[in-house]
Amino acid sequence: MNKFVLSLAFVLSLFYAFSQSVNLQCYTVVAGKSVTTTGKVIAAHNEDDYGDLIVNLYRTPAGFFTKAYKKFIQSDPYFSHNPLSTLWFEVTNENFGDALINENGVAIWSDACPSKEDTAQGLLTYQLRRIVAEYARTAREGVKLMGHLVEKYGYNSSGRTYCIADANEAWLVAVVKGRHWIAQRVPDDAVAIIPNYYTIGTVYLNDTNNFLGSKDIITYAIKRGWYDPEREKQFNFRQAYSAPIALIADWNVPRHWGGVNLISRDTFWLNSPIPFAIKPKTKVSAQDMMNILSYHYENTLLRPDKEKFKNPHQGNPARICNAGTKISLIAQFHSVSDNDPLNLLYFAPLNPCIQAYVPISMSIKKIPRQYQNRPISQALEKHFDKQQNSFEQNPWHAYSVFEAYNNQINEQYWSVLDQKNQFKSQQQTKLFKNWQAAADKNRASFRNLFKYYKAVQQHVKKSKPQIVPY
Ligand SMILES: [Zn+2]
Repeated sequence: MNKFVLSLAFVLSLFYAFSQSVNLQCYTVVAGKSVTTTGKVIAAHNEDDYGDLIVNLYRTPAGFFTKAYKKFIQSDPYFSHNPLSTLWFEVTNENFGDALINENGVAIWSDACPSKEDTAQGLLTYQLRRIVAEYARTAREGVKLMGHLVEKYGYNSSGRTYCIADANEAWLVAVVKGRHWIAQRVPDDAVAIIPNYYTIGTVYLNDTNNFLGSKDIITYAIKRGWYDPEREKQFNFRQAYSAPIALIADWNVPRHWGGVNLISRDTFWLNSPIPFAIKPKTKVSAQDMMNILSYHYENTLLRPDKEKFKNPHQGNPARICNAGTKISLIAQFHSVSDNDPLNLLYFAPLNPCIQAYVPISMSIKKIPRQYQNRPISQALEKHFDKQQNSFEQNPWHAYSVFEAYNNQINEQYWSVLDQKNQFKSQQQTKLFKNWQAAADKNRASFRNLFKYYKAVQQHVKKSKPQIVPY
């Protein structure tokens, strides 16, 4: 056995020895503006959540979330400017599933990252990203607003890394239960990839161009016994604050390794440490992001077992495109300015290896009703209504149609591979041409969402009425 196979066997045995009930699978890739084909930041995300749930798309009017979460921001000078409108991917039933992009072209989403924190408390859950999305005029401002709220009210979940990105810069903001947080800017000349563990290592709080965070992030770790300055020379946030299980989990390590090796200039072993950001071998395009988000480790030793499983989304270790994937997004930014229709978002529902990426403008004004199971006025109140947010209750909803198609393919994935790829690529090409040729990008975006819904509906031959009940 060569060294690689031995180390692979060792790492895999560790995975299975620590098989957990937790199974987190979100994924984020962010490329700095100097290493993309567009010369602007490109940020990508798979939102993975389990269960029978639909995803709604809304254009929120400016101040929509402010009204609901007034108590967190009233009389606070951080929130004295006007709120913004957002494009809101509402992952129903979830506290931490939403993705939002505001009218200034600032995007925000997150990956859960379990921490060691077991005593601190906090109030903020789903409100945090929604408030930040409504007030962040740039990514950097979003980081500051998020840090401010976490310190003021506390965070009520073990840990998470938020990605806050705009055309010029992108930040990863690691939040810990309670009132601690640390943020690092993704270097312009590198790509950061994050599964479900913290990736921020050494921190330099004096370098405020690249780091922002709680002033006591190191002293608190010392107090809790998570960092010993006498034994370890340098403070490492990831080592000090991460739940140890997350750092070796089979739902984390292979996904990090797999995505990194698709674009990195250097090759990484499965068990070798991966830095906060890596240098890509070529300029990163939206297509590269699509390839990463659709990846199941093809052509590696961890490739899907076609004999054992009906599709690549089942089995261990977790793939980047997996059974929980609910939304796949690639934000190809153009500028940080009000309603720039050239801020382009590629959106694929469910598994991106099956579904087409639908190009829409981030400033899309009107969303087809098939993507909403209720009017926006009821969205917040009914967000956690599991029964009403199910596929069964919403057979006409776009997500129910996409789910039907996803299931159809997943039942016989390997035998319909060519047909699946053909449908996806035909749709993607057509939709992209539509968007590119259109003078009115907002209108083209609406039409693309509607056209894709119709195309899939016809494709699954599951003719459902077009009547939307509200
Ligand atoms: Zn897949």
